[in-house]
Amino acid sequence: MRKLALHGGTPARKQPLPLHYPGALCLGKEEVERLSQVISSQSPFRYYGPDVRHCVTNLEDELAAYLKVPFALGVTSCTAALITSLKALGIGYGDKVIVPAITFIATAGAVIACQAVPVFVDVDDSLNMDPEDLARVYDEEVKAIIAVHLMGHACDMDRIMSFSRQYNVPVIEDVAQSCGVRYHGKDGGTIGDLGVFSFQMNKLLTAGEGGAVVTSSPELFERAVRYHDQGLFRDRSRYGISENDEELASFCGQNYRMSEFTGAVLLEQWHKLDGILTAMKANYSIIRKTLASELPSLKFRGDVDEEGDIGYSLGIQLASAEIARNFNTAMGAENIQTYVLYGGKPVYLFPQIFHQRTAETQHNPFHYPFKQPVRYREKMCPRAEDLVGRTVFLPISPLLTAQDVEEIIDGVVKVFGELDGGFI
Ligand SMILES: *Cc1c(COP(=O)(O)O)cnc(C)c1O
Repeated sequence: MRKLALHGGTPARKQPLPLHYPGALCLGKEEVERLSQVISSQSPFRYYGPDVRHCVTNLEDELAAYLKVPFALGVTSCTAALITSLKALGIGYGDKVIVPAITFIATAGAVIACQAVPVFVDVDDSLNMDPEDLARVYDEEVKAIIAVHLMGHACDMDRIMSFSRQYNVPVIEDVAQSCGVRYHGKDGGTIGDLGVFSFQMNKLLTAGEGGAVVTSSPELFERAVRYHDQGLFRDRSRYGISENDEELASFCGQNYRMSEFTGAVLLEQWHKLDGILTAMKANYSIIRKTLASELPSLKFRGDVDEEGDIGYSLGIQLASAEIARNFNTAMGAENIQTYVLYGGKPVYLFPQIFHQRTAETQHNPFHYPFKQPVRYREKMCPRAEDLVGRTVFLPISPLLTAQDVEEIIDGVVKVFGELDGGFI
């Protein structure tokens, strides 16, 4: 046994790994050039100005072409994209929306921002929504399902969509963490009724902030455009969507419009997507395959389409939350940071959700007279509570060198070996 760095041994690596911001770390001259064109044009607004460069429009066209969907809409964030999608579906007060127990708080928060309430479905071995558990939380007050493709890996969309069709509930795919993910040959975000993307700093591609909505439905698209732009639908002719009577078609919306600055950066980031995915998937695949052969007792996070995973982060299931904490500490000392998601908690245990505290002084959406009051409790989704605390994630950067890859493998083998022997 080699001595762990935690116990004073030589670390598997001398230096920490590259930070895990794939998009941000490849910001470069292309983005500078495109952004400087927008600044020179003095036209930072997408719909008018002295010399509009149409960066947001071009981004939307490229997104739609890449994903092979007719409609894409740039917005200010994925939270805005979720709210816009929920409103496109007409979700509001008195409605329930099914959300997986493990996700970033924004997924549930967007539902609440729409005056609806989230009901939480448990996860399966992949940490994604368990289609088997949908029936438990479904009733006729449920008006949508948000399927989150967590940490680069697709949900079991065939089964989720078959539930959706059976009960006639629409599905929003939250692809914030999994831009480029595929499921049985289909692009994540294009399988459900709507798909939402994030371009915040912590996501694969970034302009600091930003988001997008994609859909194949002209009706949902029109409603999304209107909701994101104060009820307006400005360049309808671009989409070949027939003229509606404005007097009848418009409704109150918000301002979630993407600026040309964001559009310029994201257009160039989007051009880098395939390069990032190729490098990340190659690194992921070597690390995963080598670990599987060197450590037969290592258990990976379950997956429904190994090929479709974007390779952003390798999930490893350890025996308990305590062992996971020890593993992370020991790996950190080896200069290979690993972590558990969300402090090891399902989203409904976050205090603002658990206590159902919203900004309203009256008419809190949870006070709606649902047939059964919506209440959250510990152990509500037992598999989520168990798995989120003991699944550690190993970030996989597209920037890893062959030596980095070797050292990562070496570090995991070393620390896991000690765990297996029960030494830490
Ligand atoms: C980050 C994230 C969001 C929110 O994205 P923003 O662009 O920060 O609003 C929504 N859902 C999931 C699953 C996320 O990880």
